[in-house]
Amino acid sequence: MINSMLSLCVVAFFLFAYLNIIVTQDYFIAALDLFTGLLSLFTLGLLRRDKNIQQAAFLSTIVLMTFMIVFITRNENSHFGIIWSIFIPYFAIMFNGKKLGLYISIFFYTIMFALAYKGLGIWSDGEWASIDLVRFTIASSLLTFIIYMTESAHEQADKELSLVRASEQKILQELTHLAITDELTGSYNRRHFNKTLPQFLDNAKNNNESVSFFILDIDYFKEYNDTYGHYAGDIVLKKVAQKLASLVENKGKLIFRIGGEEFAGVISMKDDTQAIINSINEQILELNIEHSSSKLPCKKLTVSVGVCTHCPSDEKQLEYFYKQADSALYKAKNSGRNTIATVE
Ligand code: GH3
Ligand code: MG
Ligand code: MG
Repeated sequence: MINSMLSLCVVAFFLFAYLNIIVTQDYFIAALDLFTGLLSLFTLGLLRRDKNIQQAAFLSTIVLMTFMIVFITRNENSHFGIIWSIFIPYFAIMFNGKKLGLYISIFFYTIMFALAYKGLGIWSDGEWASIDLVRFTIASSLLTFIIYMTESAHEQADKELSLVRASEQKILQELTHLAITDELTGSYNRRHFNKTLPQFLDNAKNNNESVSFFILDIDYFKEYNDTYGHYAGDIVLKKVAQKLASLVENKGKLIFRIGGEEFAGVISMKDDTQAIINSINEQILELNIEHSSSKLPCKKLTVSVGVCTHCPSDEKQLEYFYKQADSALYKAKNSGRNTIATVE
């Protein structure tokens, strides 16, 4: 709005300057028009350069105010030209906010009323009378008050709207988080897996990078539940998820809970992928979770991992990686569990 108003001021004041030179030959007013036009142009330039709306708004108000004061004094309120000053509080308040705008308006009208008082009986060959000054003072004060109240209502509505928007934004973030997170473990859920995995593989394909995709399954977890109860089983799931997350932490990698006691992860080969994945069995074992009904001699909670490492291509997409990692996991299970199997 300030931009359009300033552009309009530039055109209008240059036009007035031209008319005052050619038609009325009032060179003082023409010079004033020219000066105001140039100041508007300068403010417009500042606004475009610095994008400082506050500064431009203030300068525009000063431009209009100065023009109005000089114009009316010089013009001696002929044809009741003072009436145009009623627009000043509107721009002052709209451009500078209700508080500063009100101060500017009061300052402006103080000068204006003083000049108008001084002009009583003189301006327009003595036709400017006290009753006109009273009428003008009351009308302009009332109008300023109305503009101030309207702006107050706008500012209040804006404030409330911002609060509503902020709380909506927060709710949206919470909902987004809920929609992609597994409630129990805090890992990403299956929905997020289905959405992000194809994107991750696509990125890797475009960058010609290999990725390692793995599926992890807790060994003898049914037996764990049967021995220690489902609640204890839930705690184990959380611990495993936390451990996996900590392994890929800060690397922008992703861990998903894709089934009851199954997790999946994807890591780009540019990182120390192999070392991370190879350490999974050991890291889970180091959690030192007792599993007395495990059929493995260590009697600790263990996992089996199936890995597929490849550079994604048009043929090698999620389905391919999933199938390969799944058959690797099958291999790991069949070769005694608590191990990792890889498919290239
Ligand atoms: P394997 O070594 O062959 O993987 O055997 P397993 O017992 O781990 O596999 P199975 O598929 O027979 O059993 C998986 C168990 O995981 C059964 C189910 O009760 C348990 N499970 C699945 N989801 C949850 C869960 O959210 N909480 C708990 N506590 N248990 C779960
Ligand atoms: Mg399973
Ligand atoms: Mg299992």
